[in-house]
Amino acid sequence: MNNTLAAKNRLEILNFPVDLIKMEDAVLFVENKVMNREFCHIVTINPEMIMNGRKDNELGNILKKADLIVPDGIGVIIALKYYGIKDIPRLPGIELSSNLLKKCSEKKYKIGFLGAQKDVIDEACKNIKAKYPGVEIVFKRDGYFIDEDESAIIEEIIDVQPQILFVALGVPKQELFINRHKKILSFATMIGVGGSFDVWAEKVKRAPVFFRKFGLEWLYRTIKQPARLKRIFPVLPVFLIKVLLHKLSMRKD
Ligand code: UDP
Repeated sequence: MNNTLAAKNRLEILNFPVDLIKMEDAVLFVENKVMNREFCHIVTINPEMIMNGRKDNELGNILKKADLIVPDGIGVIIALKYYGIKDIPRLPGIELSSNLLKKCSEKKYKIGFLGAQKDVIDEACKNIKAKYPGVEIVFKRDGYFIDEDESAIIEEIIDVQPQILFVALGVPKQELFINRHKKILSFATMIGVGGSFDVWAEKVKRAPVFFRKFGLEWLYRTIKQPARLKRIFPVLPVFLIKVLLHKLSMRKD
């Protein structure tokens, strides 16, 4: 596989592209980008992001222009089934990131982490270094900085030249950050990883295998953090209804 995805592997859900790609090919894709020192923005898309991207043009355009867009949320997998695409496994951002870390460890890539609370990022880096000893963490910074600090952060990143930058500022902050700096940080691959640092720091547990197997990770996270309910709940059914209506309208055409 070269570093352009075959067009046939890219599908659209409500006009938002999604790449149908296996984990090993996604890692290979990123590896090619890193080796060629080409910029790469990875989005791990879910229904909430698509629905927000429909309302907010800036976010929508950023999501649509990303270089690799992998199906993270179960809602995206269900939507793909509506379009007749079966047997596509979810590619959760945290699993893609863990596989990338493994690759970074083997290849001794320089990596950076931006986001989460200070104690979380410190603990996450400690755990990552223990699990993936080959990684060279050249940059880490918590995600609670003021706008005035942003240019100094960017200068620091340019100085240390990470090959992959993991950005955990939550959606849409992380996508907007990546897009704002993609020209000046064009030597890096950047991926928005949401709450992954909290998981790596072992402050938040991933859903047990049962929930993951049946695509119910969102349910587990909602039970653990009920405040998420108002974020997720109206979005998922509305998203699925919209996809269904869109599909029916396509049939008529
Ligand atoms: N975060 C941050 N800066 C902010 C807002 C959020 O660093 O201004 C971090 C937060 O500490 C957490 C992550 O971004 O580690 C977002 O986690 P969440 O589970 O909300 O992510 P999502 O649901 O978007 O994947």
